[in-house]
Amino acid sequence: MKKPKPTKTKNRGKSSSAKAISTTKNSEDPKDNLSTKFPKAKFQKISNERRELIANVVKELVSEEATPIVLYLIGKTKVSEFVIAADLDFEIHKARNLLYKLLEHNILYFHRKKDKIKGWYICYWDFNEKIITFLDEKIKSGKLTKLKERLEKESSSTFYMCKNACTRMDFEKAMEFNFKCPECGELMDEQNNSRTVEFLQERIKELNSEINK
Ligand SMILES: [Zn+2]
Repeated sequence: MKKPKPTKTKNRGKSSSAKAISTTKNSEDPKDNLSTKFPKAKFQKISNERRELIANVVKELVSEEATPIVLYLIGKTKVSEFVIAADLDFEIHKARNLLYKLLEHNILYFHRKKDKIKGWYICYWDFNEKIITFLDEKIKSGKLTKLKERLEKESSSTFYMCKNACTRMDFEKAMEFNFKCPECGELMDEQNNSRTVEFLQERIKELNSEINK
């Protein structure tokens, strides 16, 4: 039997390895830090691409904080919320809160079972892995719609901007203010938004190719 080795870190001064992890904001690949961040939990190995996809979806719809729960549930089934909380070092209320948020988006589902000894109900959780691709597409098409609306607006009107950069508004709005900034009173200039338009077009192209992948 192999015992899990504690992560060896160079002992610098008094800082414990746990403290070093929580205070270091370096460029270390955070995806590989899961087992370091959650030493009590076991994670199934999946491809970086898959992990990124799941993490992005969870981040967009729930929060970054909920990501470890989802990754932790991969390859497991009917995991008690108490086990999830203990393994990932969450307070049970915090864990439940995140679990229910994930449930709202159908990222997880659960079974409720009465604990024979304690007499109360415990929820056992599963990851609804099939839904991730669908949610990813939904997020992307939502973003695409917004970008297209923005592009439409940027291409169809002229924009005015305060010389002190406090405000930016379209022609109709600027006329209402007599082309004077409502914040500082400075005159507003017509702004060349061709770079914004280019940027939006570029983003739309990127998203389109991601969706059609
Ligand atoms: Zn101004």
